[in-house]
Amino acid sequence: MKIVRIDAEADDITYGTVEPEGIRLYHGSPFFLWERSETVLPITEVKLLSPVIPTKVIAVGRNYVDHAAELGSKVPDTPAIFLKPPTTVIGPMAPIRIPRGVGEVHHEAELAIVMGRVTRNVKEEDVASHILGYTAANDVTARDLQRSDVQWTRAKGFDSFCPLGPAIDTEFDPSAGNDITCTVNGELRQSGTTADMVFGVAEIVSFVSAVMTLLPGDVILTGTPAGVGPITDGDRVEVAIEGIGVLLNPVVEM
Ligand code: ZN
Repeated sequence: MKIVRIDAEADDITYGTVEPEGIRLYHGSPFFLWERSETVLPITEVKLLSPVIPTKVIAVGRNYVDHAAELGSKVPDTPAIFLKPPTTVIGPMAPIRIPRGVGEVHHEAELAIVMGRVTRNVKEEDVASHILGYTAANDVTARDLQRSDVQWTRAKGFDSFCPLGPAIDTEFDPSAGNDITCTVNGELRQSGTTADMVFGVAEIVSFVSAVMTLLPGDVILTGTPAGVGPITDGDRVEVAIEGIGVLLNPVVEM
């Protein structure tokens, strides 16, 4: 099942699933009172929003060997986690807004885990039943600030620096080695597969859940392959994950 969140009419935000004829609307949410309706809207009539509103976004740094190398870093012994505030989250087609004067800003194509239920101290072998599904993410990063600041909060935390979407795929298998790419204005910048991750999904979720309680809808970004690079005003950035879809966002400097 592919779950989307849509703005069907003004002030009427709801969830749906992607079907051959269009988007089927659901009452409630995939986390609470999920109930199929008879209404199917043509895809051209719906505006997609970020597929989830997380209470927090956790991200894993340097989780691909080739990306750690391009930053001149080593792969850590345990997952190197940091937080992005929920106000970084935007949906497909929403602009990534780069504040003037922050220096170079980079795209980072990533597989995102969407949690399905309250998760605390979960064992690796029990992780799967706690996950709702997977979506695509762009861990937008102000690279100059990341280098100059001790903490990464500013570099990773600007509003709009976490595009998510287009859909949550509940059947996605991250161990299958699906392609992850990032394209800017049609030019391929990043290319890897989910099988290249140093720490896998079960290890990451178990590790994070030993630190903080994960709530339904919380999102974990699993790191980016090599090829990160700058995005600037007027660019169109596409993160594509085989089986999930394409997350497209324009870039504006303001
Ligand atoms: Zn990242």
